[in-house]
Amino acid sequence: MKKLNGIKLKHRKHTQDCKTIDMPIPEKITLPMAMNMGAPCTPTVKKGDKVLVGDKIGDCSAEFSVPVHSGVSGEVTAVSDYIGANGKVCKAVEITSDGEQELAELRPPVITDKASLISAVRQSGLCGLGGAGFPTHIKLNPKTHVDTLIINGAECEPYITADYREMLENTEDVLEGIRLVKDMLEIKYAKIAVEANKPLAIEKFTEMAESDDTIDIVTLPSLYPQGAEKVIIYNSTGRIVQEGQLPSDVGVMVVNISTIAYIYRYIRTGMPLVTRRVTVDGNAVKLPQNVSAVIGTPVVDLLKFCNTRLDAVKKVISGGMMMGMCIPDVNMPITKTTNALLAFSRYDDRATSACIRCGRCVRACPIGLMPAEIERAYKVRNIEELKALKVTMCMNCGSCTYVCPANRKLAETNQLAKTLIPRN
Ligand code: SF4
Ligand code: SF4
Repeated sequence: MKKLNGIKLKHRKHTQDCKTIDMPIPEKITLPMAMNMGAPCTPTVKKGDKVLVGDKIGDCSAEFSVPVHSGVSGEVTAVSDYIGANGKVCKAVEITSDGEQELAELRPPVITDKASLISAVRQSGLCGLGGAGFPTHIKLNPKTHVDTLIINGAECEPYITADYREMLENTEDVLEGIRLVKDMLEIKYAKIAVEANKPLAIEKFTEMAESDDTIDIVTLPSLYPQGAEKVIIYNSTGRIVQEGQLPSDVGVMVVNISTIAYIYRYIRTGMPLVTRRVTVDGNAVKLPQNVSAVIGTPVVDLLKFCNTRLDAVKKVISGGMMMGMCIPDVNMPITKTTNALLAFSRYDDRATSACIRCGRCVRACPIGLMPAEIERAYKVRNIEELKALKVTMCMNCGSCTYVCPANRKLAETNQLAKTLIPRN
């Protein structure tokens, strides 16, 4: 089977051999009530309240929402308005640590069937840990039957090795998570899809899943963006997710590899999502490494912990260099979806020039879109043409922008163009 297109990027996986190190407990954490896709939570605590590690401090009854929990014990010192890096406004709860890390009374949930698993996953506060932040309990409850669970271990963005360390350090959790989800959701097969640049992980999974003929290991080419949902589905199963379809429409569910491992740990311990692994790297970071940090810790604490030359930093990206988001203020907290912090002493200040019709953006697009044409149709707000050009299929992978010699912001334009298309 021919694999989908992709672009070659320098991997820059400097931290791949760095065992995860626990960060010291921060003095203060700030927990935004909107850390995942879906409705923001409402704080369930007020200034002056005492909280323990694992206590719920925000919740919402909307289907597409998950609760927020504290990763420190201490006192709520503020509940205030907050603007995220993406411009979203919500409330945030600030907690000052007492340094004790006293645990709330936590009980592992009892899982007997699909409904109890989905309910437990929601209560854990989990959303996709690969960066997109889709609520996991929604993903685990598709409207149509799924026969294949794809575990996304591509981690195709340069620099990031957070998932890779999960694969090496918690291989058993990944496999147990897969077995649990497969059993409860009655999914026949699982495929662990990993890029070829991670041979150690492939070797470990192959060895440990050898006796299980319902779990396959799929080696993906080291081409960006192998981890994009439509790409990984096609390259692992040959199934095509058409415009307007969901993965479950082709019988597939895709779950990030750290997410599946966390599900198993939560079922075992009852500890909600209060910490996460973050890759800290970039040319301004003197000690690039993978750290496990309490969610809500200020970005600057992680940068200092990794000996970053703060005076030299010009740009900090939360997430990967292709799909991540610039952080306007290093005092902002890391959130549930922060899989990497990349600090650079320079930024791309090349001027944008006119399109030279070279076609590189078309050749780079893994799903065959025509970014230069989309840009032209967007400029004149031609909605019918944007529909014909299938702009809603765009995965915002950034490959077209990356290869454009005229430095045109094609992926960014596609995102704006998508907002013009009315939803059915
Ligand atoms: S951002 Fe969209 S148009 Fe550009 S390469 Fe990726 S999928 Fe294709
Ligand atoms: S890559 Fe840039 S210059 Fe080349 S066709 Fe696309 S938009 Fe035009």
